[in-house]
Amino acid sequence: MERSLQLQPKLMRRFYEVLVLLRVLSQVQGAKLCGDTLEEGGFDHLGAMEMRRKTMYHLCVMCDYLKGGDTVTAIASENIPCGPRYWIAANDHLEKIKCFLIEVLKMLETQVEMEAYNSELHVFEQRLFAKFVSFQKARIKQYWKLLQPHVETELKRIALSPEPRDNASEYREWLRAFKSPLTTLDSYSQFSQLAYDKRRSRFLRVAYDPITMEAVTMESGPRKDIRHYVGRLCAPRRAATLLTYAAANHPALFEGSSVQCHSSGSTSKPPAARGGLTLEGISARMFPNGSPALLEFRGALQSLDSKGSILARVLSQYQDQKWRPRVHAELALLEVLHERKCSFYDNDKYIACSKAACFCCYHYICGHQGTFTRPPSHNKIYLNWEPPDVRGQARYSEQRNIMNGLTVQVRQAVIEKVLNAHRSIKWHPDSSTGITPSVVFLSESEVSPDLARQSSSMSGSSRASSQGSQSSAGSESHESEDCEDGGVSLVQ
Ligand SMILES: [Zn+2]
Repeated sequence: MERSLQLQPKLMRRFYEVLVLLRVLSQVQGAKLCGDTLEEGGFDHLGAMEMRRKTMYHLCVMCDYLKGGDTVTAIASENIPCGPRYWIAANDHLEKIKCFLIEVLKMLETQVEMEAYNSELHVFEQRLFAKFVSFQKARIKQYWKLLQPHVETELKRIALSPEPRDNASEYREWLRAFKSPLTTLDSYSQFSQLAYDKRRSRFLRVAYDPITMEAVTMESGPRKDIRHYVGRLCAPRRAATLLTYAAANHPALFEGSSVQCHSSGSTSKPPAARGGLTLEGISARMFPNGSPALLEFRGALQSLDSKGSILARVLSQYQDQKWRPRVHAELALLEVLHERKCSFYDNDKYIACSKAACFCCYHYICGHQGTFTRPPSHNKIYLNWEPPDVRGQARYSEQRNIMNGLTVQVRQAVIEKVLNAHRSIKWHPDSSTGITPSVVFLSESEVSPDLARQSSSMSGSSRASSQGSQSSAGSESHESEDCEDGGVSLVQ
């Protein structure tokens, strides 16, 4: 397919220079956004549209069989006369994912009728669960490994507790269950089932420490991580339950269904920096000529640069050999569905994705003329991002407008980050207190935790090495584990 860059070299250069700057300042751009999608909850009361959305979402999650970003999967449902056509895009391994999805849809369409007739739905559900576990085996293994150190930490804490209470003893037994080894496929199923059964445990929910019985929050610490991985391990069981219910109660979701793949394409070379890229130059391109706001911003950015080597990290990113922008799966589907003028059930232009949208995907979808459903977003910056392919002059123009809008969003985020961080530093007493400038920077720049971390690390002897690693897009997957909706769904 023809690339869409013929109108955009200058636009793309200007977009990436502020995107890189924003990533250097901070990866997280704010709280998670819910979008227009449904909150987690029970499904007995759901109508056809809600059940269709949940079905697509759980299919995506089951297709995304590797941890990291390679198998992030997006699915949309086109309304055609013979039944739903499920469009699917994945960052990689598309053929394997397609075969799996076809098999699952076939199971849901045919076998469930037989089992329902025999009042043996739970048998079908178990079979579906086993299929999901088999496909997700590598992911389950990784979660199991990640869970173990946190379980060990808690067990050691109990062992060191001077007077373990009854509650702590119960907590110890609860934790030990998660130490069972993974050997056969059955053991993987049993472990996922175990996580599902324990997902509502008070040890994951209550706001007190089960060992000391003191009031605590679940915002950090091993129990937060245990809760996160238990939630992830539940996924195959949860999907099997929902999809069995969907097939039994909403068979139209699967009758006559078909699968259509769309590749999100390969990675691209990153944009080349303009010769002599400077913070002064980037700043000047962010504001209208003669804007008084430019002076304040430029001064603030230079001040931050003197403490945190902002420019050095921006330039380091442009030299990173691992930087490979790619079209994210949900955007690949969005453009092909829009171009083909696909018809949607209930006119619900919903694209499910196994991971929440990144900052750029979210704003691209919100700025798109197709009025697609706003997705949930983790609001993080990923530099391995690029706009999808479009064809034809009209679509080039539309995409240029979207990218202009997105560039404005990124610039606005940069301005807020820089001014907020600078004002915080200015407000703080000077270093006569004995606190070094870099420590002041760390303690006051909560609006920019990444920058604060980088500044802190650079105050020590690891300064040179931290520049490359902290700003490296190559070290980040498209959707790291942090961007998944973590934790346990408390109500199914
Ligand atoms: Zn994205």
